[in-house]
Amino acid sequence: MNIDSIKDGIVIDHIQAGKGMEIYDALKLKELDCQVAIITNAKSQKMERKDIIKIDRAINIDLDILGFIDPESTVNIVKENEINQKFHVGLPKKIVNIVECQNPRCITSIEKDLDQVFCLTDEENKIYRCKYCEMSMK
Ligand SMILES: [Zn+2]
Repeated sequence: MNIDSIKDGIVIDHIQAGKGMEIYDALKLKELDCQVAIITNAKSQKMERKDIIKIDRAINIDLDILGFIDPESTVNIVKENEINQKFHVGLPKKIVNIVECQNPRCITSIEKDLDQVFCLTDEENKIYRCKYCEMSMK
């Protein structure tokens, strides 16, 4: 992939086509004042089509949010025009304040200042359960 437009930054690659914008919003990338590029429907050897996000700064991105939206995506850390680190994101074991528990009797429905915590209980089927009431997420 062509990364020559980035000297120090992050490239999120192999995003499932169509999820680029969702990730852009979820990671709040529009709040950055550096260059961010979203490439949609790029041709890929591994996948038919993919989205790519290029961030022109070495920021800390929330890998739990990214992994929850698209565990198949990969992150490339670019330093001095070269890929310094590359890894597969994967499903996060725990997600905090990304989704809300739908159980009206759950303690998080009553105590609004509690964190919404979901734990991965079935990796194969991507099932998360509320830490408090164990209701699975829809
Ligand atoms: Zn709950």
